[in-house]
This record gives sequence, C-alpha cells and structure tokens, in this order.
Amino acid sequence: MKPFKIGGFEVYFLEDARFRLDGGAMFGVVPKPLWSRVTQSDAQNRIPLVIRPMLVRAGERWVLVETGMDDKQGEKHRKIYGIEAAGRLLEQLVVLGLEPGDIDLVINTHLHFDHAGLNTISRGDRIVPLFTNARYLVQKQELHDATHVHERNRASYLPENIEPVHDAGLFEEVEGEAEVLPGLTVFPLPGHTLGQQGVRLHSEGETLVYTADLMPTLAHAPLAYIMAYDLYPVTTLEVRKAFYPVWVEEEAYLATPHDPGHPLGRLVRDERGYRAEPVGL
Ligand SMILES: [Zn+2]
Repeated sequence: MKPFKIGGFEVYFLEDARFRLDGGAMFGVVPKPLWSRVTQSDAQNRIPLVIRPMLVRAGERWVLVETGMDDKQGEKHRKIYGIEAAGRLLEQLVVLGLEPGDIDLVINTHLHFDHAGLNTISRGDRIVPLFTNARYLVQKQELHDATHVHERNRASYLPENIEPVHDAGLFEEVEGEAEVLPGLTVFPLPGHTLGQQGVRLHSEGETLVYTADLMPTLAHAPLAYIMAYDLYPVTTLEVRKAFYPVWVEEEAYLATPHDPGHPLGRLVRDERGYRAEPVGL
C-alpha cells in the first residue's frame, strides 16, 4: 500500500466494508432517473457503498479518521444492509505493520454505526474499545446527541460502539474548529447530524478535506444531491455553499467516506453547477 502525500502528511485510504443502502434515501429529492445514471440499484433498490476510513501519518503519530463498520450486530443487521467484509480495516493495518495499539488518535466524524463501528470490538462476552492507546476525538454536540437518541436517529447510534469508549474515558470532546496536530484540523460540518465534523490536512500548500457525510460519495457533489438520511438537509445545503467555493479555489483534494469506486476527487464548477471529478492515486 503506497501513501498519498499531502505535503508532509502520508495518507492511506482504507476500505473496511462494502454495504448497501436504499438509493432513494441516499439521493433525497433527486428522482431515480437522474441518480440511476451514476449508480446502479439492486432488486431491493439498494446501491453499493463502502466505508473508507483514512489513515494519516503525521510526523511520529498515526491518526485514524473513522473506524469502519464491524460485525457485532449479527446476521439480521448484516442482511438488511448487505454488509460484506466488515472488519477488513484490521487486516489493512496489519499490511502496514500496525496494530490497533499503534493508533495515537481516532477522529470520529460522527458516531453512526457505519463510521464508528470499530470504535469497539467483541472480546468474549464483553465489548471493549479497540484503539486502547488512542484518544477518540468527537464534537461535544455529537457525543451528546448519540447518547440522547430519539426515534429518527436511534437506528444509527448503537450504544455498543459508544458506551465502552465513554466508560474507558477515551473520548476527547471538542467544540468547534480545533487544530489537533500542526496542519491537521477538525471543523464542524453540521447537517447530516448537528455535531458532524470534517478533517482538513494542510501542508506545503496542499490541502485535503475528509468530507464526512456532507458529501458521502463524489456523485453527491451537486448542491441538491443531499441524503434523505440528513437530519438537517437545509443546513447541509448552507454548509456546502459556504465551503464549496473555498475548496474549488484552493483545489482541495476531497476524500469521501462512502464512494465505492474513487477514494479521492476534486470539486469543479461549470455552468451547470458543482460536480466532483475523481483523482487517480
Ligand atoms: Zn455515512
């Protein structure tokens, strides 16, 4: 596995699991004749997705953005979401000569099960934090919401991914933007959830942004291509309108969490609006 370099950072795009979600829910108000041009749905109208954690070598530190999906929920859950190869993250760390204990910092963009699933792992009949030497960085708002669920978000926040980390005192809550390491910043991207955060790497004039679910795949770049899963879709739109011009201007690389084909893209704007073009690694 070769790293992608952003100035002094080395970045690895991992892939933890493949899974499937309803295509209509993934594209919100966009009609199927439009979204079916960019992705193909199965007999249950589900489209293929991955979860792509991003591993960053920052000086002497290893930073993991998202932990992936895991398999703790069993067969029914696996079937509903068409989950395959959950837990591959661990194999990919091994390929890089790493163990979970080598990760210094975990960044949870938000605490949904498809992003924070490997925050914890089953050991016998117990569920314990996987990255025992790491701090888990999360927005204070997100941790609050994930531990005070309601009917609309309950299915996404699974206590087994959150409580053991909380009980072990490994969460570090941030409020708003914070430079975590030189050139590595977390910043709020509300909309999908109120407490979602993105990650920005900036080094030697180059910028990479991990978009979290503000832009789940490159196909979601157009302003109105907003998931029905978003709790605050109009906020998603406003946040896109605030950041998109900046990301075009600085020619930022964009890493999305769920794109099945392309780990990386760049935003372009033409007469028809915004879209994202894949970037080869
Ligand atoms: Zn997601």
